[in-house]
Amino acid sequence: MTTLIPATDDRADFEDADRGWIAALEPAVVTAADGRVVWDNDAYGFLDGPCPDTANPSLWRQGQLVARQGLYLVTEGIYQVRGLDLSNMTLVEGERGVIVIDPLISAETAAAALALYRRHRGDRPVTGVIYTHAHVDHFGGVHGVLDGTEDRGADGPVPIIAPDGFMESAVSENVYAGVAMSRRALYMYGSALDKGPAGQIGCGLGMTNSTGSIGLIPPTVLITRTGQEEQVDGVRMVFQLTPGTECPAEMNFLFPDARALCMAENATRNLHNLVTLRGAVVRDARVWAAYLDEAVTLFAGRCDVAFASHHWPTWDQPRIVEYLSLQRDLYAYLHDQTLRLVNQGHTGIEAAELMEMPPALESAWHTHGYYGSVSHNVKAIYQRYLGWFDGNPANLWRHPPEANAARYVACMGGADAVMAKAEEYRAAGDLRFAAELLDHVVFADAGDASAKDQLASVYEQLAYGAENGTWRNFYLMGAHELRNGIVDAPPVTTSRELLQALTVEQLFDAIAIRVNGPRAWDEELVIDWEVTDLGEVHRTTLRNGVFTHRRREDGTDGPGAGASGGTDGGSPDPAAGRDRGHRADLTLTLTTSTMVDVVTGGAFDDVGHQGDLGVVARLLGVLDRPDPNFAIVTP
Ligand SMILES: [Zn+2]
Repeated sequence: MTTLIPATDDRADFEDADRGWIAALEPAVVTAADGRVVWDNDAYGFLDGPCPDTANPSLWRQGQLVARQGLYLVTEGIYQVRGLDLSNMTLVEGERGVIVIDPLISAETAAAALALYRRHRGDRPVTGVIYTHAHVDHFGGVHGVLDGTEDRGADGPVPIIAPDGFMESAVSENVYAGVAMSRRALYMYGSALDKGPAGQIGCGLGMTNSTGSIGLIPPTVLITRTGQEEQVDGVRMVFQLTPGTECPAEMNFLFPDARALCMAENATRNLHNLVTLRGAVVRDARVWAAYLDEAVTLFAGRCDVAFASHHWPTWDQPRIVEYLSLQRDLYAYLHDQTLRLVNQGHTGIEAAELMEMPPALESAWHTHGYYGSVSHNVKAIYQRYLGWFDGNPANLWRHPPEANAARYVACMGGADAVMAKAEEYRAAGDLRFAAELLDHVVFADAGDASAKDQLASVYEQLAYGAENGTWRNFYLMGAHELRNGIVDAPPVTTSRELLQALTVEQLFDAIAIRVNGPRAWDEELVIDWEVTDLGEVHRTTLRNGVFTHRRREDGTDGPGAGASGGTDGGSPDPAAGRDRGHRADLTLTLTTSTMVDVVTGGAFDDVGHQGDLGVVARLLGVLDRPDPNFAIVTP
């Protein structure tokens, strides 16, 4: 698919990545309070060497660039700490202290980054925090830069600025499919793999995720429109809201006095993901491109450096315009050409294979698919518009993989015959079809060690050829689990703040998706939840194996009122009217904080109640536990 590659003697990226370097963290190892290593950038020292035949040279080069770490000067008064987590922390000096943009994933790495900055720039207090968007690598480490002792006296608490919709977006991703995404993220980032020339060499966007403690302090200032200006610690900022791009809540912003532009994660030094391999709602390439174009028109004439929360900055106006324009063209081209091909009748898989990228995009480095890929992004665009079904009735009602596998293997004369065929394809260089054949053998008989070993070898060969970091990690993790069994999910210390940040509705949704439908078919339970700190009453109903919830607008008309007849003229809400026909089995009077305890099976000490408390146990009794370690490469 890739025909042109950029000139390998082009050193501009290395010059930019090294520009302004002040000091490294030595050793580049960050530990948690219990001594557990949560970040080790020194483990990537092997990338200094020439590319081995176990890695794609383009990805190896990206790894060399991304593995650089330390404190860097971006422009006067603006610094970045790079290479101490998946993301960058940017520090903007104000009149009294320093504003932190994106405090990394873990409190431990964020504290280490801030300490590195302070060793070279003095013990400046943190006078503001900005979350560029609602992904965890841009807010999770906030307790490492705000420890609660910050006191601005009459100025009030340290402002925390974020794009509109930040909290909703930050927590919702983990509410619904979070467990499955975490399991697949282990494959995507390869954090359980050994780092080395034949192992994990980064994920394109950064090296990997840190594994320390994650927190979330809600923002105090929301950016709600493009053109909004804010001033913190004497620093002026002009914002561009970019909802629905790389994240549902995201924003770019300009520091007009420093002539510096922050592009959040909307323009980084790779083709980004329209759908991540860990799984996500598909992003909109069309909107993404449009906001990049708007950024060029709004800001490019007013800045001399553009930086982002991953990778290294771009200096000088003509280069910034060219860089942002190429990034815009990248997403717009993928969007438009995919739909052109789709409207000629091609499916996502076919369109991905047919997609030809323009020479200007092939011959730049930052448009290459180190994190997203042309192949999976084209399929994502198809998915966004047309969904999983390709229109071919043969694909409408296929057997699931295990059932299909047994039939294929039987048709082809048994496992040994399929494995022999797979070896022929592998030897001829068709690793893709060899993998498909061997996948059938493994799914037909997960106990077949030789088939698993042969498939693992094919996955490793696919990994070594992949330009995309997340593809490499997926193949290598697949091989690892075929050979060694399922890797336990790594420990992540998620603070209670993340649970508390859920809205009442999200909390009920989180319960609803854990209800074991068949087990709950015969239960019928109605609970009213009087949430005192919100002044709201919510009614939940479990019936037919479904847990539904609604807010009762007529909060005063509690369950004690009982059946009072039909809807009266004062209640236009038909839902409220329907409620009046039913008495709740139980009414709980509680706060959002104690609600988290109740629904996680915890304490009832501070909860008032009226009715049968046994109802809670019956509800909890029909909830399933999600499986954080489900099988992927075996049935
Ligand atoms: Zn990020």
